[in-house]
Amino acid sequence: MGRYTGSVCRLCRREGIKLFLKGSKCMTDKCPLEKRNYPPGQHGRRRIKLSEYGIRLREKQKLRRIYGISENQFKRYFEIASRQKGLTGENLIKLLERRLDNVVYRMGFATSRRDARQLVVHGHVMVNGRKVDIPSYLVKPGDVIEIKEKSKNLERIKNAVEMAEFRGVPSWMEVDLENLRGVFKSIPERSEVQIPVNETLIVEFYSK
Ligand code: SF4
Repeated sequence: MGRYTGSVCRLCRREGIKLFLKGSKCMTDKCPLEKRNYPPGQHGRRRIKLSEYGIRLREKQKLRRIYGISENQFKRYFEIASRQKGLTGENLIKLLERRLDNVVYRMGFATSRRDARQLVVHGHVMVNGRKVDIPSYLVKPGDVIEIKEKSKNLERIKNAVEMAEFRGVPSWMEVDLENLRGVFKSIPERSEVQIPVNETLIVEFYSK
């Protein structure tokens, strides 16, 4: 299945929570979820009791949509996570957190993961002094992420920094927002990552 190109706000309405996919709009009362917190479509207002399968499926979709990952790629991450030591669900989230687009967003250089993905693809981001234009690149502890000198004055990046000053930067990163440079200090523990997902249900979804 290809990448979703429709309205991202529909995805939030489908999951019934804010997934923060639209940058600054998500922080305002223009967020459609503020007014229409029910699933999109003709039958959206009807409350349907989900089956166990449905609950697990929704949890998987929620995590996949938060990080903006295609179905196939998400499954590949799950397979890698299940081969690693430790709890598969936690490993999965740790892998997703290491994606370069996610790190660029978390560091505050982009207003959303989607925006970060574009910055990376368009070559505005460097890792350890070299351009990396692959959003799925896995960042390692100690890696230095920086916006290219020529791109530092982009309006979209300035807007993102303003938002980041308000949002804050996670403890596993050290970020110099003025110089648009940050260090990924360590891979976060699951307890440090604030995402409203029960990863055990996702493990159950793939174990059926
Ligand atoms: Fe989701 Fe943001 Fe759209 Fe609100 S504005 S529905 S949080 S993407």
